[in-house]
Amino acid sequence: MKRLILMAVFAACLPFKELTAQVEKPKLIVGIVVDQMRIDYLYRFEDKFSDNGFKRLMRDGFFGRNTHYNYVPTYTGPGHASVFSGTTPSVHGIIANDWYSKAIKKKINCVDDSTVTAVGNANGGKSYSPINMLSTNLADELKIATQGEAVVVGVSIKNRGAILPGGHFPNGAYWFDDKTGNFVTSTYYKKQLPGWVIAFNKRKLAREYMTGQWETLLPIAQYTESGPDDNPYEVKLGNSKQPVFPYDLTAIRKKDGDYGSLPRTPFGNTIVADLAKSAIAGEQMGKDDVTDLLTVSFSSTDYIGHLFGPDAKEIEDCYLRLDKDLADLFAYLDEEVGQGEYTVFLTADHAVAQVPQFLIDKKIPAGYIKQKPIESIVIRGIEEKYGKADWIESVSNDQIFLNHRVLNEKKINKNEFMDDMISILLTFQGIKNVFKGTDMNTREYSKGIRSRLQLGYNVKRSGDLLLVYEPGWFQTGYGKTGTTHGSGYNYDTHVPLLMYGKGIPAGYNSVKPISITDIVPTLCLLYEINLPNGANGQPIEEVFQNNQ
Ligand code: ZN
Ligand code: ZN
Ligand code: ZN
Repeated sequence: MKRLILMAVFAACLPFKELTAQVEKPKLIVGIVVDQMRIDYLYRFEDKFSDNGFKRLMRDGFFGRNTHYNYVPTYTGPGHASVFSGTTPSVHGIIANDWYSKAIKKKINCVDDSTVTAVGNANGGKSYSPINMLSTNLADELKIATQGEAVVVGVSIKNRGAILPGGHFPNGAYWFDDKTGNFVTSTYYKKQLPGWVIAFNKRKLAREYMTGQWETLLPIAQYTESGPDDNPYEVKLGNSKQPVFPYDLTAIRKKDGDYGSLPRTPFGNTIVADLAKSAIAGEQMGKDDVTDLLTVSFSSTDYIGHLFGPDAKEIEDCYLRLDKDLADLFAYLDEEVGQGEYTVFLTADHAVAQVPQFLIDKKIPAGYIKQKPIESIVIRGIEEKYGKADWIESVSNDQIFLNHRVLNEKKINKNEFMDDMISILLTFQGIKNVFKGTDMNTREYSKGIRSRLQLGYNVKRSGDLLLVYEPGWFQTGYGKTGTTHGSGYNYDTHVPLLMYGKGIPAGYNSVKPISITDIVPTLCLLYEINLPNGANGQPIEEVFQNNQ
């Protein structure tokens, strides 16, 4: 009897033992960022998507419908850094795309690195690396855990879209050089381009894609999910006379004399998908049992979104074509890595606002903040009380950097000085609130806009005063056409999250709140990878449904 009970206990333990002993790991993780993708594109264009692109992930994977950025500013650099590191600018330090550096007193780009030069450009010159990113990410942790055996590659049109996801020591990161139409890297990674990238560049795809016309994929009359093609809210592409189809790409390229307009067409996405396939083949990714990581950032969605806005025919066409590019990429993965052997996740680095003028015309409160006039009125007000001096060192990304040298020399009470400045700023229409960096640094906020600002605030890099605008307002050089992103409002924070592959439930829809920083902790716990050192997101429990 005793023996029977023992055996029963032993048997009861077995399934658990087996489960923990054999975590099924994918041969390849493909992390896709669609630059500026709003969640509503999945719903609006769903009927026109193929079965094998976005819909394959929605149908056969996990769909996080309520996934948001949990910090401001919602820009590309911070977005890519946050997705892959599972933390926010306060920790990884990528506070914007470009910011005023308090240390060296000038503006820098998030991927600037003065110690490296370009590889693959005709004339070398300055180049880029991830040195400004202060924490590890999924790529770094995979590399460390496998003694460097995991193959990690990042590709994108944008340098920051390739560099930040790839972490600090990938096999390579490649981005687009719009002068030559080639993909390039920097000496941070290697002294020369690998053979497969040289061979890829020799195919001259940029030239091919910038030849002929950009016409709509389906007859334009079927694009009932977007507004009229010719409308007052769109910027014209290249030298086109009207913001309407068809666009004469050969003429645009000849006028430009280079490939600067390719990213502003859907074919900027296609060439990145082509490069992703070449990377899989060239680096032998997904061929052995060590999990590899390919990061793919599609940038044309962002360029087209800025020019035409979220309701344009151009954006609809861009997404229908991206859907095809994705379907092709997944078919290639099925073939080369094997169906069921890889994991894909897809999200965005931020979403985007409606064109403010479009909202104004619909009687919805919205507007444009013009930085220069505000600056001069604020300075005039400050000078009335404190006299003339260089009070402001810089204004960047809706943050004011005070001149601390002058404030210290004149022994001015900084808190009072900031209060004075805030009361002047609050007299402007469109400015909702202004917060102090000192509060971000000394208090602990757990929700709302203060929390989002705090998670985006890095004491060594961020400014002294943080401006928040009313919903629908943004600071612009945009005029009344085109749009942008950067706020903590839903239109900028709400992004898709699709996860598909090994161990991930199929057809699971979630409306629970998910933070952008939750994605990588989820993958790390699912596949037994160490959490990136600064990660503070939580695993999405619903993804573990299959494993209970
Ligand atoms: Zn972006
Ligand atoms: Zn148009
Ligand atoms: Zn953008």
